[in-house]
Amino acid sequence: MKDTKELDREYIVPTYRRFDVNITGGAGSLLTDAGGKEYIDMGAGIATNSFGACDPEWVAAVTEQLSRIQHASNLYYTDPCARLAALLCEKTGMKKVFFPNSGAEANECAIKTARKWAAENKGPEYFTVVTMKNSFHGRTLATLAATGQAVFHKDFLPLTPGFAYAEPEDAAELEEILKNEKCAAVLLETVQGEGGVRPLSTEYIKAVAGLCEKYDVLLMIDEVQTGNGRCGYMYSYMEHGVHPDVVTTAKGLGGGLPVGAVLFSEKTAGVLTAGTHGSTFGGNPVCCAGAISVVSRLDEELFASVRRKSAHIFEKLSGKPGIKGVYGRGLLIGIETEEDAASFIGKCISAGVLVLGAKGRVRLAPPLNIPDGLLDRALDVILAVAEKGETTE
Ligand SMILES: *Cc1c(COP(=O)(O)O)cnc(C)c1O
Repeated sequence: MKDTKELDREYIVPTYRRFDVNITGGAGSLLTDAGGKEYIDMGAGIATNSFGACDPEWVAAVTEQLSRIQHASNLYYTDPCARLAALLCEKTGMKKVFFPNSGAEANECAIKTARKWAAENKGPEYFTVVTMKNSFHGRTLATLAATGQAVFHKDFLPLTPGFAYAEPEDAAELEEILKNEKCAAVLLETVQGEGGVRPLSTEYIKAVAGLCEKYDVLLMIDEVQTGNGRCGYMYSYMEHGVHPDVVTTAKGLGGGLPVGAVLFSEKTAGVLTAGTHGSTFGGNPVCCAGAISVVSRLDEELFASVRRKSAHIFEKLSGKPGIKGVYGRGLLIGIETEEDAASFIGKCISAGVLVLGAKGRVRLAPPLNIPDGLLDRALDVILAVAEKGETTE
């Protein structure tokens, strides 16, 4: 019989360059592969498994819902999505929620909202959504166009029209675009995650918010990766004291199940009306039950521990041999290594630490509740790889 790797290679289109690791189980921040090898999880399924692998409280919430009803469709009311929406609004002050299944779909919904809002309030020619160079917003055709990195556009032209790109940290350039183009919204990440974990400054984020006011366009924040406690706040925009009109999220929301959310402020809560948007699986009760288990535990105490762990990572790694820079917010960290990031990541994995990459940097996004001892063990491996360019196994 063919093994998993052979079957995958034969039958799955090769869009992913996989590492030679077959994950078969896990508990908390430890994962195991098919050969029984154990790894410290510094990636959390790309910032999705917010409380680690098979967190007991999350498993109980999901299985309890699973044994009631797995799906009902949006033709009917179900408890979990209504309760999750209320919880999200309570924790953000936003007014209404739409549930998509992924980050890209969340951003699609935001872009549709911006177009409809602008058509109704400014005129149908005001459809341009300004995004940032080096951003990442997803892989569907509209979110690909929103993504400000040519490498993702290649082979898929023509792009969906209606996007303009601004250089991050250059408020004057953004103002020129808002002045000269007929704009509906600005969509941005507070930390460019896939773009190499590059945080934007509070000064710039505040300036963007001010320009959105001045030119009457929506401020839309993509919290797909940065949200749900990842950056040490419920949503990362909260650190910067701005008030977005639309917030999109996904990744960590469901604790490892596919669910996203689009949050609407007072100003945008009435834009999407019956029949204007939808999703068959949107608000799926099992996914929403998992998300309730996650979101109900996102509190000040957890955020403080995320920020404390973050400071510890910065302190432990900054300025050490082989490490050129440490960037990020909360438990979304990018490390610039002297060694090529891809080979650095391979060495960490061989040494039993699963780290991620992001545009030439090593990215860390461990479970939010990773124990201090495991975090230190993982950081020691990273330091050893950085110093010697070899593993400590
Ligand atoms: C991952 C990501 C997306 C896309 O999310 P998917 O669930 O893969 O569609 C969009 N925006 C940001 C900022 C992301 O990090």
